[in-house]
Amino acid sequence: MSGTVYKRNVQQHHETPNVTENPSLTRQQLPQWLQKQELTEADLPYIHDLLASGFAKWLEEAEGFPWLGGPIALLHPDGTNVNTSQPSEESEAELPFWGETGIGPTAASRALDTCRPTLMRAEEHRIAKLKEYDSIAVPIFARTTGFPYAVVACLLPAGTAQAGDLKLLQAAALHIRSCIYRSFENLFVGGLLRERKLSNKEEVRRNTLFGVMRRLNDHIDVESVLSEVLDSLEQLYPVCKADLFLSQDYSSPNEKVRPLAFHLNEMELCKAAFLDGKIREEFSVGRHRAALPLSGKQGVYGVLRLDMPEKQLDEADISFLTMLAGAAGAAFEKAKLHEQANVLVGELRLINELTQRLNSSLKLSETMQFASAELLAIFKSDFCCILQFDTGLQQFMVMSSNVAEMIGETYSKDYGFCGVMWSTQEPIILSDYCSATPVQSKLMDVTDSRSLLASPLLLNGEVIGAVMIAKRESNFFSYDNYKLLQVLSAHLGLAISNATLHAEVRRMVITDNLTGLYARHYLNERIGRKQLKDSSGSLIVVDIDHFKKINDTYGHQVGDDILIQVSQIIRTSIRDSDIAARWGGEELAIYLPLLSLEQTERVAERIRQRVESETNPKVTVSCGISEWRLQDERVSVEMLFYKADMALYEAKHHGRNCIVVG
Ligand code: GH3
Ligand code: MG
Ligand code: MG
Repeated sequence: MSGTVYKRNVQQHHETPNVTENPSLTRQQLPQWLQKQELTEADLPYIHDLLASGFAKWLEEAEGFPWLGGPIALLHPDGTNVNTSQPSEESEAELPFWGETGIGPTAASRALDTCRPTLMRAEEHRIAKLKEYDSIAVPIFARTTGFPYAVVACLLPAGTAQAGDLKLLQAAALHIRSCIYRSFENLFVGGLLRERKLSNKEEVRRNTLFGVMRRLNDHIDVESVLSEVLDSLEQLYPVCKADLFLSQDYSSPNEKVRPLAFHLNEMELCKAAFLDGKIREEFSVGRHRAALPLSGKQGVYGVLRLDMPEKQLDEADISFLTMLAGAAGAAFEKAKLHEQANVLVGELRLINELTQRLNSSLKLSETMQFASAELLAIFKSDFCCILQFDTGLQQFMVMSSNVAEMIGETYSKDYGFCGVMWSTQEPIILSDYCSATPVQSKLMDVTDSRSLLASPLLLNGEVIGAVMIAKRESNFFSYDNYKLLQVLSAHLGLAISNATLHAEVRRMVITDNLTGLYARHYLNERIGRKQLKDSSGSLIVVDIDHFKKINDTYGHQVGDDILIQVSQIIRTSIRDSDIAARWGGEELAIYLPLLSLEQTERVAERIRQRVESETNPKVTVSCGISEWRLQDERVSVEMLFYKADMALYEAKHHGRNCIVVG
């Protein structure tokens, strides 16, 4: 049921009033402004609902209207019957108020054509159905332009229509027009209010985003960035449940921040958002989920997931959330970089301090003790153990540990974690000793520890030792700890090798090459120091008898060997605290701290006897003994040697192979 005459193909060109764009519009001015709003030809395709609601309003208000003898309809210029009053019978509802194309008009189409109230008698109608009706119609005009945008029409039993009916219909048309305009204005005001509401919401969003961005930029720690994002979401969308999944090795005290577990089915949406870096949405019955990637310049750090009971988010929300997630990603990245930089600076400072301290003392035991204490503090661990690999014995030896049971222990190069590191040359991080490993470890067993961090100490590609750090709790050490220990071990390895080399050089300097006894300068030095502290001490000077003959008879090689044999006898005849040295040539000297003359004599006698019986070829020795006491007038190393030398001289005179006390 549509006419063709007035069907127009026009575009909507409504100028929608926007309060924010038109700030000068006040409450008082609004009605006048509304009055000026007008329906135009261009609006025709969109006004069906408006006409229907105007007509419905009129029907409500038209209680006192003296009803004409037939149904009244409101028609759109395209022929659509937007509404009919009193459709008492089915046939009446379908009555062709407009007429039919090619068959003939009714008063309605004619009224619209002529822009005048129109009456058509039944006999004028060409349509069979209308032969029993007179039709009357009144056009409805736009209030300012006079443009007809609707027709109100009525069908009356044939021959009953009067001029008075047309007047009545004109009155009704005026009323209907005013109802339509009221609907029109309501629509406008409704639109305005909606706009205003939207723009208010937009303003809130914009303000929030601005606030969040500013606060995000203020935060330089990761934790605050994360809670800022979650808190502001909670505030803006109270019905949403927000969760943050991070792909990074980062554990947060915030229970809403969790690791992004790719293997879980429920993570599919987050995984998709994470992988393509774009927002993903999912709708299911009574549920709406959105996953927003947290991306920075260098990558995607995680996914923000919103869970809502129903579809809550419009397009503006989504673009707002995308911006928020972007800002959060950038802030997270910044905070993370800042933290990493801090950690790096901290590590550098630590390495610097440690290497300075490690190298300030060249005593290996001191260095190791210091390193052990530092490592315990740096890694907040419970136990530490530093081992050195003895290439001669092919064993690891504990150099330093805060575990009493470990001190002095040695382990074969196949045992425990040191064994693993000896063969792989790789560091170890273990989260739970109880469940994870078939490797046996005394350190872990005696300390009841579960977390382990260990690193080999390498020098020129060789394992020279190992460092082990243990904690009672499981899952204690992080990957950052692991990397830091690797860096520190490199320095520790160097410090150990420096200290070892230094000790070796020092040993060489103070040791006589041939005999393995101390060198003369070291003996002098030690006696000098003893004389400052002790109250007494004695010296034996040992000289091989007729040594020239030995050399002459057997050659220098054998002479050397005799010297070694005698030195060995001396070494095994004295206490650890006594100091034996090669005084020069074939003369040897032994300093015996705090020993009385009688005791010294007994030591010398034991040496003399053993040399006589144990050397091959057999030699004998003569000994001169001297002593010093605190009360002596002249106490000096020179004096001590002088007196011993004199005694030796006497022994030679007494026929050799004897002892003389000076
Ligand atoms: P005396 O009983 O009086 O001590 O007689 P002696 O032959 O031992 O005399 P003296 O102590 O004066 O001689 C020292 C000799 O020891 C001289 C030197 O040939 C020899 N000699 C010194 N140092 C070494 C050494 O390192 N190796 C060898 N084979 N001989 C040495
Ligand atoms: Mg001599
Ligand atoms: Mg001699």
